Amino acid sequence: MKKVIIANWKMNLGFRDSMKLATELAKQVPEIELGSKEVIICPSASSLLLVAEILKEHLFGLGVQDIFWEDQGAFTGGESPKFIYEAGCRYAIIGHSERRQYLAETDEMVHQKTKAALAAGVTPILCVGETFEERSRNLTDNVLMSQAIKALSGIDLLPNEQLVVAYEPVWVIGSGRSLDPSEAQHAFRIIYQALLDLFPLHVVNNNIRIIYGGSVDGVNASEFVGLEHFGGFLIGGASLRVEEFISIIKQTK
Ligand code: PEP
Repeated sequence: MKKVIIANWKMNLGFRDSMKLATELAKQVPEIELGSKEVIICPSASSLLLVAEILKEHLFGLGVQDIFWEDQGAFTGGESPKFIYEAGCRYAIIGHSERRQYLAETDEMVHQKTKAALAAGVTPILCVGETFEERSRNLTDNVLMSQAIKALSGIDLLPNEQLVVAYEPVWVIGSGRSLDPSEAQHAFRIIYQALLDLFPLHVVNNNIRIIYGGSVDGVNASEFVGLEHFGGFLIGGASLRVEEFISIIKQTK
């Protein structure tokens, strides 16, 4: 599987700034990088179609930052997996810690969304990670296993379906401080083991990528690239800075 680099623009850019950033990316990210890796842009919903239009001649993928678990109906404000697929999105971030924290998303909701994404042909980017408090109480391994198992139990991956699991230590996201790569390595192994409890080995190795997210920048990215099970990055803040984002893409091997 190709390495994947996912840009999470969060709620940082209005449509003008989104257009500007997408235009810069289209101009500046070398095609060769886009051919050998997957680079997925997740703008805010209000800018999605504009960004899709700008990137359509290029090899970027498109994702949303959240979806709902039903395809259609009276669910005010929800983003339908089916409709976002029609809009050209092939990825959806699910269970980001900011949504778990501010919108009280539960593991059950994350599970439903993951299932719905797959059913619509959208690859889930499932976010798991411990808070600082959980880490201080030595609960990191339990949290990672529990979040992965609750999100994925009962889900089968067909040969043409993929899943991305993003390890995002909540206390590192947006903090500007970087995680010791040995800690990311440990988390990758825990997640890999949890996945092996849920899926056959060939599915874990061929259909699932484990990626890292949390204050990754042009300086620290290289520290994670060689880790066992490393499948790519989820990038927040640094994805808004074109040169830094390109530097991360180039370092991802
Ligand atoms: C994120 O929010 O998914 C993230 C990784 O953010 P940052 O890179 O800014 O820590």
